[in-house]
Amino acid sequence: MAKLHIITLPDPLLRQVSGPVERIDDELRRLADDMLETMYAAPGVGLAAVQVGVPRRLIVVDAARDEEEEHRPITMINPRIILLGEDRRIYEEGCLSIPDERVEIERPATLRVRYLDRDGREQEMDADGLLATVILHEVDHLDGRLIIDFLSRLKRDIIVRRFKKQAKTESAA
Ligand SMILES: [Zn+2]
Repeated sequence: MAKLHIITLPDPLLRQVSGPVERIDDELRRLADDMLETMYAAPGVGLAAVQVGVPRRLIVVDAARDEEEEHRPITMINPRIILLGEDRRIYEEGCLSIPDERVEIERPATLRVRYLDRDGREQEMDADGLLATVILHEVDHLDGRLIIDFLSRLKRDIIVRRFKKQAKTESAA
C-alpha cells in the first residue's frame, strides 16, 4: 500500500463531477487500499477518489473514531443515496482538502445508500450518526460539492482567497 497525495483548495479538480467506475479490478482495489491508508494517516474518517486526483465515483469511509476501536473500513463504489431520513443532525465538519477549516453543517441524520463493494456485489446499508454525515460529505465530493458551499458567499470567498494566496506563496517558494 502507498500513501497518496491529497489535493487541496483551490485545485479545480475538486469541482469536477466524478464519473462512474466502469470496472472493478485489482487496480481499483489497490486504489481503494491506498485511499484507506491515506485516510488513516491523515487522519480522517472519509476520502473520495477525486481528492487523490482520480475523478471516479469511489469513496472510503471509517466512522470508528475511537483510537481503541477496531478499524471498520468501508469501500463504496458508485454509491447512491436512495433514502434520506427526516431527522436532521448538525455536525462541525472538516475536510482533508480544506485543511484547518471547520464548517457547521446540518444534514439528514439517517440515510440508506446503495453501492457496489470491492467484489462488485451490490450492497445496501442504513447509516446514522457520524457514518451518515461522512457518507453524505464524501458523496458530495463526487458531485464537486464542498463544505464551504454551505457557507454564505462572502465567507466562502474569504476562504478560497486565502487558499489561492497560500498556493501562490508555495509555488513561488
Ligand atoms: Zn472532504
